Amino acid sequence: MLAPRSATFRAPGAPQPLRRAPGMQRAAQPRVGNVPGQFFTDSTCIDCDVCRWMAPQVFTRVSGQSSVTEQPADREGRIAAMQALLSCPTVRAASASHLLPPAHPAEAAPAQFSIHMRDRDPAEFKAAQQGMPIPVAGCPGVHHCGYHSEKSFSAASYFIARESGNVMVDCPRFNPALAARLEALGGVQHIVLSHMCARRSGGVT
Ligand code: SF4
Repeated sequence: MLAPRSATFRAPGAPQPLRRAPGMQRAAQPRVGNVPGQFFTDSTCIDCDVCRWMAPQVFTRVSGQSSVTEQPADREGRIAAMQALLSCPTVRAASASHLLPPAHPAEAAPAQFSIHMRDRDPAEFKAAQQGMPIPVAGCPGVHHCGYHSEKSFSAASYFIARESGNVMVDCPRFNPALAARLEALGGVQHIVLSHMCARRSGGVT
């Protein structure tokens, strides 16, 4: 899996995201286009499109970045939005205790993303997490890993369960909960990298 990010990816034409000095807290302010409710995005979005294809009913491109244009109406929608949040590649460690708490006991620090969630239901959040990797409809054994990384240019990673050895296609961002789930599914025996840059950058560990 990938080590913590060092490179920044932005889609062509995307606005420059806000940058803060080291140690400075991210201001979790809704950007333009967010409707009131539990989920919102901020101006640090790098317009990678991940949330929009993972939860298209919730996230829409507005002025070059993603916004929550419709709040999820039910549990299924909320879980999809939470999985998009966990997959947002702009994740950073955060020090403020009121921010998103560690999603797994092995995670040392709370995390912040370009997607934010108010009033988290711990049971629903756990269900969202345990639902990853996400089975791909119509493709038996194929799962979308989620947990995208800027270091792989926000590319999607897939886990394929096979009798002759499980395969991971490209690498997700390291997350202990995902690692535990993959282990429970039989572990990874082979890795296929579709992008040479991931190897050249030294991002794969
Ligand atoms: S996943 Fe995060 S960075 Fe990517 S488009 Fe959505 S909010 Fe922006």
